[in-house]
Amino acid sequence: MKKYLIAGNWKMNLNVHDASLLVHHLNKSVKNHHDVEVVLAPSLINIQPLSLQIDRRKFRLAAQNAYHQDSGACTGEVSFTQLRGLVHYVIIGHSERRLYFNESLETIRDKVSAAIRNDIAPILCIGETHTERRAGETKQVLHDQLTTAISNLTSDDMEKLVIAYEPVWAISTFGGELAKPTDVKKALDFIRMQIAELYGRKVAKSVRILYGGSVDDQIARGYLEIEGCDGALVGGASLKHHKFAGIVAAAHALAREKHKDD
Ligand code: PEP
Repeated sequence: MKKYLIAGNWKMNLNVHDASLLVHHLNKSVKNHHDVEVVLAPSLINIQPLSLQIDRRKFRLAAQNAYHQDSGACTGEVSFTQLRGLVHYVIIGHSERRLYFNESLETIRDKVSAAIRNDIAPILCIGETHTERRAGETKQVLHDQLTTAISNLTSDDMEKLVIAYEPVWAISTFGGELAKPTDVKKALDFIRMQIAELYGRKVAKSVRILYGGSVDDQIARGYLEIEGCDGALVGGASLKHHKFAGIVAAAHALAREKHKDD
């Protein structure tokens, strides 16, 4: 059985001291479960000190972004090569990067390739805006974002990829409207079907697809129990240790129930 993956995107929050305090609380409140993988994505500046502080039996680290070239004259950027060995994952194509920093489909494709080249698993975010949804373009947007991002990947590469379906309108930054689990299921099924068409059903089954969009400890279960949902990418609630621990606990409870039914 696949492990649930619960990832906390701290975005541009917390200085070194406050990030360390949050990890101190998380080390206590998040329990170690063999059926849930827990990932923390702090700001770049906090990754190195936190790598020494986290309980490695419980947590893995992710970066929120990186630059696609491995090295060179790119003032102010940090490459996947520099992050190698420090993080297991990098979030790529988050809607805030697509919309505020104009990251194109091709830029995101190059970042996904750079992550794989450097042995870092990409958490690729895809999702439609409110306008695109209202115009009936959800499937087209998901198709374009997904197929461009993975266009350089082999089947073996695909097994390392994690996808986060994040409808932009459901993310707290952009409105935080609650998505209906039935709509989320349709999107997850569509994403998996696209992968199956390109790489076959075995690969499609193995890729982990998360849901992201204002998930907290109260509503996490409703999304995690959707068939084909392998976890959650959490924004705001990941900054509150008790809420984040509650989401991890919900994933563990569901995994145990599923295991009993097997
Ligand atoms: C996100 O930005 O990826 C996200 C899911 O944010 P929030 O949980 O705050 O909506």
